[in-house]
Amino acid sequence: MWGMIGTWRMALEGIIEGAKILEKKGNAGDAIEIAIRQVEDFPYNKSVGYGSLPNEEMEVEMDAAYMDGDTLDIGAVAAIKDFANPVAIARRLSREKVNSMLVAEGAEKFAHKEGFERKNMLTDRAKLHYQKRVKELVGQTQTPLQEMKPYSGHDTVGMLCLDIKGKMTAATSTSGLFMKKKGRVGDSPLSGSGFYADSQKGAASATGLGEDLMRGCISYEVVRLMGQGLHPQQACEMAVNCLDKELKKRRGEAGDISLVAMNPQGEWGAATNIEGFPFVVVTEEQKPTVYLLTRKEDGHCTYEEASEKWMKDYMQRRMAPINGV
Ligand code: ASP
Repeated sequence: MWGMIGTWRMALEGIIEGAKILEKKGNAGDAIEIAIRQVEDFPYNKSVGYGSLPNEEMEVEMDAAYMDGDTLDIGAVAAIKDFANPVAIARRLSREKVNSMLVAEGAEKFAHKEGFERKNMLTDRAKLHYQKRVKELVGQTQTPLQEMKPYSGHDTVGMLCLDIKGKMTAATSTSGLFMKKKGRVGDSPLSGSGFYADSQKGAASATGLGEDLMRGCISYEVVRLMGQGLHPQQACEMAVNCLDKELKKRRGEAGDISLVAMNPQGEWGAATNIEGFPFVVVTEEQKPTVYLLTRKEDGHCTYEEASEKWMKDYMQRRMAPINGV
């Protein structure tokens, strides 16, 4: 059995490419890298790769990670600027014995030496989003720029992959929170929080408010639960519900938490504490499909396939011009 699962609708085109590799008995490392690169290259994704929304200094700083579930090799970059495909750099770093997670200038120096493609990731469209947001915030609250809070809009592409030989991988890529502080690192490049893969137990990835996801090391928790025999769906629901409850109990509120998981048999699951979380699945037996997930009052999640109308509206919204751009 082979398969892939990814967070948000934006994963779809990448997953279609990844599946082509898996179908031909390709490996889970190549499939996941190609899939995430595809998402990074699409200029209309507002929070991954080229065209993603900048930090409060109008710079696009990106986080990405890669994990090999056979060897437990991990590579990650954080707060990296001006490189086209952070996930590829993360994967390259995963082969290093030490220095396998690099940040900011250190990551950029490494990427440059290794010949990765440099690219100005800030698009005119992203600048317009930024300017619009500044106007809204200043208009609404008279808040000076230095005191602006990160906008709550965010999304990480997190993917998990199982190949025909039973190897599992996990990878993430994001520009993190829009208007974040320079140097802010979210959960996505952190092993155990934004992602985890163990070919013997399964793999998981998270998206949502990084600061809260880190409090629960949530991806590792899901993999641990699968290791104890839970189905990925049960493991995701249990992990989301527990963290959501704990955060509310101890801190009065919980940020957005959404998870996807897959086990070595290609069974998958997803859970969320938000309304209508989209995710994408493909397996040997199932064509690439976008689902929308909702949590019911009893804590279980239900999902349904996204309608054609939903898919069309999504693309229209995503590509709608902002001031003509
Ligand atoms: N978890 C990411 C971060 O906090 C954002 C997201 O997944 O939506 O950087």
